[in-house]
Amino acid sequence: MAKPKLALYWAASCGGCEIAVLDIHEKILDVDRAFDIVFWPAAMDFKYDSVRAMEDGSIDLCLFNGSIRNSENAELARLMRRKSKTLVAFGSCALEGGIPGLANLTTRNDIWGYVYKDSPSTVSTDGGVYPQAHSTMPEGTIEIPEMWDTVKSLDQVVDVDYYIPGCPPQPEQIWAVIELILSGKPLPGAGAVLGAGDKTCCEECPRERKERKLKQFYRPFEIEPDPNTCLLDQGIVCMGPATRNGCGALCTRANVPCRGCYGPPPNAPDQGAKMLSALGSIIDSHDPQEIESILDQIVDPMGTFYRFSLAHSILRRVQKS
Ligand code: SF4
Ligand code: SF4
Ligand code: SF4
Repeated sequence: MAKPKLALYWAASCGGCEIAVLDIHEKILDVDRAFDIVFWPAAMDFKYDSVRAMEDGSIDLCLFNGSIRNSENAELARLMRRKSKTLVAFGSCALEGGIPGLANLTTRNDIWGYVYKDSPSTVSTDGGVYPQAHSTMPEGTIEIPEMWDTVKSLDQVVDVDYYIPGCPPQPEQIWAVIELILSGKPLPGAGAVLGAGDKTCCEECPRERKERKLKQFYRPFEIEPDPNTCLLDQGIVCMGPATRNGCGALCTRANVPCRGCYGPPPNAPDQGAKMLSALGSIIDSHDPQEIESILDQIVDPMGTFYRFSLAHSILRRVQKS
């Protein structure tokens, strides 16, 4: 009997999700035994045209990581959607825009201005040369993908069947999902989040949390936190109350606050709003001015509350004229 076909693709990705697949160690051999890997550009030399030539719906499972921030990412998202029976948004960039989504705090022109014009360079660019989608050379016309102004999640571009959260997803979680698919057991309804819980990271965290009232916040390097007490209780902003469980609270077990990479828990569409509501209940003041000055101690609130989820949040991006 023919093996089911598996594809793995990276769009605007750091490559960490690809490494996470290899982190299942020798079980990767089971994946190879169970699946016919038909497309995995990070690991093997496949051509886009080979995928285009496949029948629509002929790939059984596609794990798609990375956000969508240029024309090539979008074209491949549409191609993989068309060719795949089951398309999975794999990792926080595909789910929510992830770290690349923080580019939505600015514009493409501002980014280009900084990178190609204002940054010191060893090359004289005569006031800045920006990437062009089409450039005519003596040898012919060169085309490069067109960068978008707004970074999007995969499901803002095509329909997605399932979601596997994490930056990157944890190997045990990846293997559990692959095992589930191989078992032939019925999968949850479309749109389900696989391999993660339906509570918050705090539920898995071994630290004791008393929801202590706070007047002072610290950055992680400013204090030496007690290893058994909730980091938030000690004034370190920890996204645990606003983050889906499933990773086993990896970071807080290592004395590092949760950054929120598993995205918001169920029924909390906006992770930043959920975190603000959690903070609202522990600020030790009723005076609006004092509350403001306490919250002002939090450095980089957007990057803290929306580190992975800005592109998929209610805000999505800043408006700049
Ligand atoms: S989710 Fe994290 S590990 Fe995966 S591509 Fe994005 S930044 Fe990299
Ligand atoms: S806020 Fe952070 S440190 Fe505190 S219990 Fe939740 S996950 Fe653990
Ligand atoms: S503790 Fe938070 S940031 Fe760390 S892996 Fe888990 S969800 Fe991600």
